[in-house]
Amino acid sequence: MLEIDGAFGEGGGQVLRSSVALAMITGQPFRIFNIRGGRSKPGLMRQHLAGLNAAATICQAKTRGLELRSREVTFQPGSVTAGDYTFKIGSAGSVCLVLQTILPALLTAKDVSRVAIEGGTHVPFAPTYEFLDQVYFPVLESMGARIDRKLVRPGFMPAGGGRIEVEIHPVLELDPLELVDRGTLSQIEITAAVSGIPVIVAEREIEAVREVLDQQVSPEMIESQVVQLPRQFGPGNAVHTKVESASGLAMFTGLGQRGVRAETVGKRLGKVVRRYLSSSAPVGPHLADQLLLPLAMAGKGKFVTRKPSEHTATNMKVIETFLPLQFRTRELEDEDVQIEVVGL
Ligand code: ATP
Repeated sequence: MLEIDGAFGEGGGQVLRSSVALAMITGQPFRIFNIRGGRSKPGLMRQHLAGLNAAATICQAKTRGLELRSREVTFQPGSVTAGDYTFKIGSAGSVCLVLQTILPALLTAKDVSRVAIEGGTHVPFAPTYEFLDQVYFPVLESMGARIDRKLVRPGFMPAGGGRIEVEIHPVLELDPLELVDRGTLSQIEITAAVSGIPVIVAEREIEAVREVLDQQVSPEMIESQVVQLPRQFGPGNAVHTKVESASGLAMFTGLGQRGVRAETVGKRLGKVVRRYLSSSAPVGPHLADQLLLPLAMAGKGKFVTRKPSEHTATNMKVIETFLPLQFRTRELEDEDVQIEVVGL
């Protein structure tokens, strides 16, 4: 049984999620201790527990320690079974992170799976539904996967209550990933959505993002729109900026928060986008984290990102623990880095 120190590297929930996903794919049992040891409130939070329970259901795993706040878990996977599943997180824990835990294994299943997950769809420190829909899934699809999806209703902090439904079609083998050039910028799209919050908030956010990008991008390149969601889903507010280039797709998110001005949300988001635009790497920092596992599953390929975060470095190590492969990083110009996977 593999022994994983959950406090290793960045020491967050990703160490656990990647371990579970890899155990499901490889059949390799593991014990993880010091779960989220790098966090001020360590142990399993609802999102992590929901991901573990979902994974255990799908591969009929034998488990120990699956309870809130638990710092140690044993996970002994059985075989991955396609099917119709509904998982409820029971809080605003991220449905997207729960999905990312089980998706890799379901791609390797024998049949189509239909999965509904309820919880938070637009929550801090996690990809939003739009990020999955417009960036993460399209990259997987370029590798041969097929994932039909629907946002049934959004769920914001702190209430949650969102629901996504996905249909995951199995794929025999993922094609190698190659995302090394971004190419010329074609368009920037800012979409600010509000639910039970005045439309003016969305308009002010868009204005603030535009102002930050003003120096770098001509205004004609920037499209923007306000989306008014039914108020019963709120209160909630999310603003996304999608950057489309000849061969790169990136998305950055700002989430409205009580007590934080719309201008601040927009300005922070604008600065993140500006940083992405100032490099030529096609893959943004969060996508870099999330592409490591598909890249490893393909067994071949590479992508270029800005200097990888500790989160990304930690995730590489976890994947190398489970699979007979290695990530090679090569520094390019500026702070760009190429990450390549090679078999051992
Ligand atoms: P912890 O609370 O221990 O940090 P966690 O499970 O909530 O654990 P992380 O380990 O930090 O979270 O992992 C969060 C994941 O969400 C990472 O894959 C990260 O790339 C992704 N993520 C965070 N913010 C965004 C964002 N704005 N857009 C896209 N992805 C994001």
